Order: sequence, then C-alpha cells, then structure tokens
Amino acid sequence: MNNPPTDAAARRAVKPLVCYEIDQLPPSNLELYQQARESMTMISEVTVPPRDGGTFEVPAGNFFRIVSVDGPQVGDLNLWNSRDLSERFFSGKTRQLHATHVSTGDRLWSTLPGLRPLATITHDTLDWYGWDDDGGGVHDVIGTRCDPYTNYMLKGVDYHHCCHSNLTRALAAARSMPLTEAELQVHDVMNVFMCTGFTRDTHQYFMKASPVRPGDFIEFFAEIDLLGALSTCPGGDCGSSHSDDSTPCYPLKVEIYQPAAGALQDWASPERSAYSGRHGL
Ligand SMILES: [Zn+2]
Repeated sequence: MNNPPTDAAARRAVKPLVCYEIDQLPPSNLELYQQARESMTMISEVTVPPRDGGTFEVPAGNFFRIVSVDGPQVGDLNLWNSRDLSERFFSGKTRQLHATHVSTGDRLWSTLPGLRPLATITHDTLDWYGWDDDGGGVHDVIGTRCDPYTNYMLKGVDYHHCCHSNLTRALAAARSMPLTEAELQVHDVMNVFMCTGFTRDTHQYFMKASPVRPGDFIEFFAEIDLLGALSTCPGGDCGSSHSDDSTPCYPLKVEIYQPAAGALQDWASPERSAYSGRHGL
C-alpha cells in the first residue's frame, strides 16, 4: 500500500547480523559425548505405533535414539525435565540460538527460567542432507505440531490423531493425568526427520517428503533427567498431507543407551540459569 522511500535500496542493503553467536554459548561437551557413545549399550526401547504417541524416560547421562523403522515417518518430539514438567523444550529459543533446523552438536534448550540444555544431538544419519534447492532442511524447530484445533478451523472436521492429540494422550497415560491437564503440558516440538523450509517468494512454511529411510536415526545425550514424548505424525513422511488418515504411516522406535561406567569422567548435569530473577525490581 505504500511506495518505497527514495533510500529503500540502501535501507535494504544493510548487512544482517547473526543475533546470537554460537561461540558465546556455554562450551559444549560434544567431544566427550562422542567418546562415551562408543561404549554405550542399549538398555530399553519403546515402539510408537503409526498415528499414535508414546513416552520414554532417559536418566541424565544416557543417550536416546529415534529410529526409522518400516518406512519414512516424521516424529514430533516433546521433552520435559522429568522431575518438573514446567521446564520443557523451548523450540523458539533453540531456533534463535542454533538455526531453523538442528543436527549434531546443536542443543535443545529449556524454557525460562531454566534455559539450560535438555539434550545435545550426538549423531544424525541425515546430516548429509544439508539445504536442498528449495531451501529445505531436516529436523526443524519451526513448526509447532499438527493439532485438531487448526484442522477444525481449516476443514470443519474433528480429527483425533494429530500430533498434539497423540502427545496429549501419551503424556496423560504416562503420568496418570486427566487429558485436560496433560494437554497444557504439550508444547512446540522438534520435528524429527521432517523436511521443511520457507517458500522463496512468499516465505510460507512448506513441507516435502522426508528423505528418512528405515535404519536412519537421530541420537541425543540427555543433559538432565528427561521425560520424552514422541508422536508418529499422521502425515507419514509429510510429502502430501497431514491431519488425516490418507497417508501411509509407520512406527518409530526410541532406543535408550547407557555409556560404560566412567565414560563420562567428571561430567555433571548443567544447572538452571544463574540470572537473579529480579526483573528490575
Ligand atoms: Zn503431526
């Protein structure tokens, strides 16, 4: 509606600045974790059926993997401090601190006032993907999760197996909570294996078929005691639709691994933020 000012080109040409430099973050223990993972053994596993949700607990100092089995499938991941569900994955800050899509070496940060790493990504078999010609990448921390409310707004129908509902049912079952209480704990996800980006012309969020294949996995180190919930998105590989039963869907497996005794040396869980919490008062 407005004509550009005469200096529009100059204003647009101002150099962008990365908001948060990675080297300002607390140092990562990635090297230690890479050594420790060499000695790890699987101690438990959970299979999440298609179009459903499941939960898992990972004690601090252990690893967990989300593994593709049977066919290409996207997973929506929630993480909580297992002792205090009010501290949970902070998708927006993770995106600002790292990038729109995450991979090995990136950390999943917790909500304020905790703001500490919940998990560090220690291996990603899709790290070869990088950025495709559409500007897409895998494992995004952009999308929120498919949910029945947005679906109802757009299509006017009830659908009960959106990731939001799958995560809600899984948490309610794991913690013996009413659905209404569990729903309030469900938060913006990490879209595991999902391939997404923004269209170049209109900057709209897009998805395309995930490059994940059976055997692929992404692996995390649990920085604190974690409760995780994973939904097998009704969109399957998210190459055509979501929030309905039209796409082939597959299970996802979660595997928990423990490193050998002593492998973590004198490692300790990160503390919550040391900010005074006074907020100017
Ligand atoms: Zn979904």
